[in-house]
Amino acid sequence: MTYPSTQLFIAGEWQDAADGRSLAVFNPATGKEIGRVAHAGVPDLDRALAAAQKGFEVWRDIPAAERAKTMRRAAALMRERAGEIAAVLTQENGKPLPEAKGEAMAAADIIEWFADEGMRVYGRIVPSRGNLAVRQLVVKDPVGPVAAFTPWNFPINQVVRKLSAALATGCSMLIKAPEETPAGPAALIRAFADAGLPSGVVGLVYGNPAEISSYLIPHPVIRKVTFTGSTPVGKQLAALAGQHMKRVTMELGGHAPVIVCEDADIQLAVKAAGAAKFRNAGQVCISPTRFLVHSSVQKEFGEALTAYARGLKVGDGLAEGTQMGPLANPRRVTAMAEFTQDAVQQGATLALGGERIGDSGNFWQPTVLTDVPLSAKVFNDEPFGPMAAVRPFDKLEDAIAEANRLPFGLAGYAFTRSLKNAHVLTQRVEVGMLWINQPATPSAELPFGGIKDSGYGSEGGPEALEAYLNTRAVSITNV
Ligand code: NAD
Repeated sequence: MTYPSTQLFIAGEWQDAADGRSLAVFNPATGKEIGRVAHAGVPDLDRALAAAQKGFEVWRDIPAAERAKTMRRAAALMRERAGEIAAVLTQENGKPLPEAKGEAMAAADIIEWFADEGMRVYGRIVPSRGNLAVRQLVVKDPVGPVAAFTPWNFPINQVVRKLSAALATGCSMLIKAPEETPAGPAALIRAFADAGLPSGVVGLVYGNPAEISSYLIPHPVIRKVTFTGSTPVGKQLAALAGQHMKRVTMELGGHAPVIVCEDADIQLAVKAAGAAKFRNAGQVCISPTRFLVHSSVQKEFGEALTAYARGLKVGDGLAEGTQMGPLANPRRVTAMAEFTQDAVQQGATLALGGERIGDSGNFWQPTVLTDVPLSAKVFNDEPFGPMAAVRPFDKLEDAIAEANRLPFGLAGYAFTRSLKNAHVLTQRVEVGMLWINQPATPSAELPFGGIKDSGYGSEGGPEALEAYLNTRAVSITNV
């Protein structure tokens, strides 16, 4: 199976770093080096910034309907190439091939929705209070060149949400994509380039994340910053953006509660929340982690979830039938060992897993911990791995208080047959996205984002476009 080395994309050209530096890319299923990725330095960033400025000046003046045509061509190319892109994605990230293909196909849907929504960016006319000769206009303009920073867990999806909203509104975007999974984002950018996106409208760089963000965010060309990643890094970048008064969207960590009420459909809860938990080996910001289960169904639920997790086929994502691949990098294996050891030491029961699999690649067993004390690390820090932590509750208000205890507020899940419970949960659970009696179904047309320490701004729905627009008032008087 071939894997491409990845270059920088600057001013419409694929190129090595000016100083020739590159980094190794590893397959998480084997631990072996499979390719290289160019490592940008300041001269590369300067060229990319100049190109982003020029690209913006061209793109903003193209009508939204024309921009949409280019975007639709890129979406079609993503669909056409989804099979080959999936093979690349699986080799660098580890996720099973069908999940990788799903990510490439979903990118096409996202691009198309934003292309259409870009044609609905309207201003308004506000009647004047006194003088009818005055026309008061509210106009919406693209903010300008955007700096985007994206992580390795969904190498394509994390870019495409940002890029589609930016392009639909007429912005250009300079993307610092993940060094660990560079070829997936490059395949996405290639689709846009092949679709005829003008030079400089999108740029793609890799390198030292901290060096690149500290150079790009304060730079006068950059008018907006968007980041997906951990809360501590997000806070640093938002603070830097604040010092330079740059617009910001932050999609940060989560610690999703799953509230299973006494009247829940247990089979549905296990199937929906279990699938969400182990998808992408749990390396998902909306992954369910704190399973809060009514004490009357705790045993039944714990056993069913354990049986579900035991049945998962773990292996190389390229192998037929694999349901869960390796973790994306060795850091996550170390983290899983620490989370498990800490929980067990504090009195949790290890119902399943808790061990590394083999000694090559980053494989970790699907892990279920029950009767987990609130003080355990896994009940407080985002595990970002295939680990479910279960705790009983007696009253719904206690489960809701626990769901809201942490500073995170990204996603939540609940299972109940009671309409009353569903209403209370809707009103009281402090998350940006709540799924009741169903799996997570994020889509381009729904807001996607968190509250509290999970960030601000949205990467779906009309709100996602607003984040890339300046709203201005203009009054014109006839003379
Ligand atoms: P990390 O915090 O070091 O990095 C997370 C992401 O931020 C990476 O893509 C990294 O390249 C980038 N990053 C780090 N420092 C940066 C900086 N100064 N400027 C710009 N970008 C920077 O952690 P990690 O080990 O890569 O991932 C672990 C944690 O990150 C997880 O536990 C999870 O909380 C979080 N994470 C969240 C998401 C998400 O979808 N929200 C995705 C990946 C990782």
